[in-house]
Amino acid sequence: MNDTYDTYDTIVRNGLVVGRTETRAQDVAITDGRIAALLPPGAASAAEEIDASGLLVTPGGIDTHTHVRWPHDGIHTTDDFFSATRAAVLGGTTTIVDFVPPGDGDLLGRCRDRVDEAAAGAVVDFGFHPILTSADDATLKAIGAVIADGFTSFKMYTTYEDRRVDDGDAWYLMNAIAADGGLPGFHAENHELLESVLDHEVRAGRLGVEHYPRSRPGLAEAESIQMIALYAKRIGTPAYIFHVSGSEALDAVRTARADGVRMFAETCTHYLTLDDSCFRRPDAWKYIISPPLRGAADRDDLWAGVTEEVVVSVGSDHCAYRRDVKNVPSDDHRAIPAGAPGIEARTPLLFAGCAARGLGYDTFAAVSASRAAKVLGLRHKGVIAPGYDADLVLWDGEADWDADLAVKASSETFSLYDGMKTSGRPRHVLLRGTAAVRDGRFVGRAGSGRFIARRPRAVTA
Ligand SMILES: [Zn+2]
Repeated sequence: MNDTYDTYDTIVRNGLVVGRTETRAQDVAITDGRIAALLPPGAASAAEEIDASGLLVTPGGIDTHTHVRWPHDGIHTTDDFFSATRAAVLGGTTTIVDFVPPGDGDLLGRCRDRVDEAAAGAVVDFGFHPILTSADDATLKAIGAVIADGFTSFKMYTTYEDRRVDDGDAWYLMNAIAADGGLPGFHAENHELLESVLDHEVRAGRLGVEHYPRSRPGLAEAESIQMIALYAKRIGTPAYIFHVSGSEALDAVRTARADGVRMFAETCTHYLTLDDSCFRRPDAWKYIISPPLRGAADRDDLWAGVTEEVVVSVGSDHCAYRRDVKNVPSDDHRAIPAGAPGIEARTPLLFAGCAARGLGYDTFAAVSASRAAKVLGLRHKGVIAPGYDADLVLWDGEADWDADLAVKASSETFSLYDGMKTSGRPRHVLLRGTAAVRDGRFVGRAGSGRFIARRPRAVTA
């Protein structure tokens, strides 16, 4: 540690810094990978200085929802932790929270294996939400040890035959997670309703890609969220809802919060950026994502949710299918695997989206990083203040971000954002004080990302 005022490892000089309470011209002094001080411009010196004149300095982005190298149908998606996180950091994301895939056997062992897989390649820091598919004794018993190991948030699916938990399982799993200070999270869509609606659509012959949103109505999300809210209230636990897609789901979260439940909505880049007009495009196959893209009014309402602080986080739901795996020629949307890549696009599209809607830099920092850090327990992330990790993005607000030129997680995948150009692009990105992107070019090192072992919430008896 330095004990003199004016010696630091690195100073980010003359930037417009988006701090916790205000945005103003400051120098960010960094020591040992942490922010040591915020200083008046020119007040101190350091061995390394980064010129941020004319640039905006924001906390490194936190992508709360990625599926890197994701197993499906006996293979896996076409990226790996190096290629996916290189794409992420070039876009201004310095932390991802990915998932531990469902599987058989020792849950804690599978969590640790997933950490090892990521640690070998990742160039950003990372945490994981383990996916739980059963409330069997082994799982219930393992949850405490998994939380103690730093995996404090979980995902359960209320639909998909191969992994869903029923309401009873959800109840017992939520209780077990809450008892050890973890955060239960859900892919929330009511299974029975979806099954019936799909059956109806099959009989009506409406299976073309253009009909996809009808097969997964927002009502199914709302019903499932109501169930989770009821349980969360009874247990006294917070709850996290992954990928809230539109107004019906968001209203269910708003209602739960008005009823005193600490319920947090995550949405995704695509729900904030696109709408169901995509299903009329020639490349509509790309947009098969679950839950579906909703209407333009839903998209606008999600932005209202951002302002209301009901939406606490934005994930990319990155899942880099090979183009040929996703683009199966079919007039039946059930043949197309749901999901799409987007780890590279999340932060630039949020940056431009906030600007287009007149939301300040503070809102951008909140929704791209700081709220997620708080809700998910990423203690040293998401805020530019002394003591926090020096994960910083230095934005050139005038530069174009071009989806077609952005480095993707894999050359074999595709993009939802073809042809899109926005204003604002990261020029430099620091991960714990070390440059991972310099002048828009990747300069990071495979394996420099670290697992973030999160601490559980304090549980009062
Ligand atoms: Zn997902």
